[in-house]
Amino acid sequence: MASSYVQKVIRSVKKSNPHQPEFIQALEEVLHSLEPLFLKDPKYQQNGILERIVEPERQIMFRVAWTDDKGRVQVNRGYRVQFNSALGPYKGGFRFHPSVNLSILKFLGFEQIFKNSLSGLSIGGAKGGSDFDPKGKSDAEVMRFCQAFMTEAFRYIGSTIDVPAGDIGVGAREIGYMFGQYKRLTSSFEGVLTGKGLKWGGSLARKEATGYGSVYFASNMLKARNMDLEGATCAVSGSGNVAIYTIEKLYQLGAKPVTASDSRGCIYHPGGINLDALKQVKEVERASLARYAELCKDAKYIPAKEYPKDQHPVWNVPCKLAFPSATQNEVSGADAANLIKNGCVLVCEGANMPSTPEAVEAFLQAGLAFGPGKCANAGGVSTSQLEMAQNASMQSWTFEEVDAKLKNIMANIFKAAHETAEEFGVPGNYVLGGNIAGFRKVADSMIEQGLY
Ligand code: GLU
Repeated sequence: MASSYVQKVIRSVKKSNPHQPEFIQALEEVLHSLEPLFLKDPKYQQNGILERIVEPERQIMFRVAWTDDKGRVQVNRGYRVQFNSALGPYKGGFRFHPSVNLSILKFLGFEQIFKNSLSGLSIGGAKGGSDFDPKGKSDAEVMRFCQAFMTEAFRYIGSTIDVPAGDIGVGAREIGYMFGQYKRLTSSFEGVLTGKGLKWGGSLARKEATGYGSVYFASNMLKARNMDLEGATCAVSGSGNVAIYTIEKLYQLGAKPVTASDSRGCIYHPGGINLDALKQVKEVERASLARYAELCKDAKYIPAKEYPKDQHPVWNVPCKLAFPSATQNEVSGADAANLIKNGCVLVCEGANMPSTPEAVEAFLQAGLAFGPGKCANAGGVSTSQLEMAQNASMQSWTFEEVDAKLKNIMANIFKAAHETAEEFGVPGNYVLGGNIAGFRKVADSMIEQGLY
């Protein structure tokens, strides 16, 4: 009965949303793991929760017209998917990347609902962004784009309505330009965005939070298996905010990260990634990782065009722990087989849905500790909520205060996923534990708030 309920909803979503493969992928992963819950309690089916929760409350698409440095008109598409507000104001990042479309944003928004629920804080789920590609654009072009984007987006957001943040392609610079435009349009200086600059309402430790949180989650998973991070060789993908601060925290806790990647290639640095060089290349110069290899002669640089088919070299190095922290579907079934073969015991997802379904299946089958993104990378959005709390109370907390709260939040998320997995008879399965724990709170709140 439970499985036919799930099948029916998946069939109907597929029918009404053709050409949305990433959304369907995220949906199937979550819905199948909820079957034991529907078996236990018929109220979710009786209240039509699944039929409602898979449909965003609101999806906004808009034109963003701006001029490049040559004075030519450019047009991009802007989006905000306000998926679910049962637990609080919509919350979730803006992504600026050429691959952005409705399928990608709906997958991210759907994940965000349960991630935000797991954080234990009062935040609903949303996602937005644009197919604008910041790569190769001048600073002035990025500013004009951000201003044009916010000129439309401002009408749908607000500090108690919907509070966007960053994601891929949206960092402190873009948040600054968008915040400035929101302020000019509304005459209101409010916490409408998170990830703000520290001089004008940002929170200490927000930049570090996703990466630090991911490592805290990994250390909770290891502790449950009587292991720790000390001396562990780690494979990390990505070289954005998440990857950089994953690497920083891994060093602080005694581990050794040896890889990083970007869209053009990857680095294998067996002696350990040089964090200062990585920050210099990515945060200061905004250059490709080929530049890292110029700075660190003992590191090996592999250009993406030399990768074997369906295999990423980052997942084929000897390592004990793996931190996929770049983007969706970056770990294939073949990559998972390489990791397992090379002795990896833990995979912790810093990115959103980086493991393909085949990879997740392989990790669970092989008995690895697997931390799904909605648990492991929830530290970022959680610290965004801490930024909202500071803005609302006109206070600013120290780095140590925010970091201590983050650590506590990650421990609570781990506890919820761990205990829920045990409750449903699959100890150590944090996919099922995280999905059910996150879903239950949202679903119960929807029932309590009446049909909508
Ligand atoms: N984009 C981040 C995420 O995937 C952060 C969202 C936020 O801080 O609102 O969770």
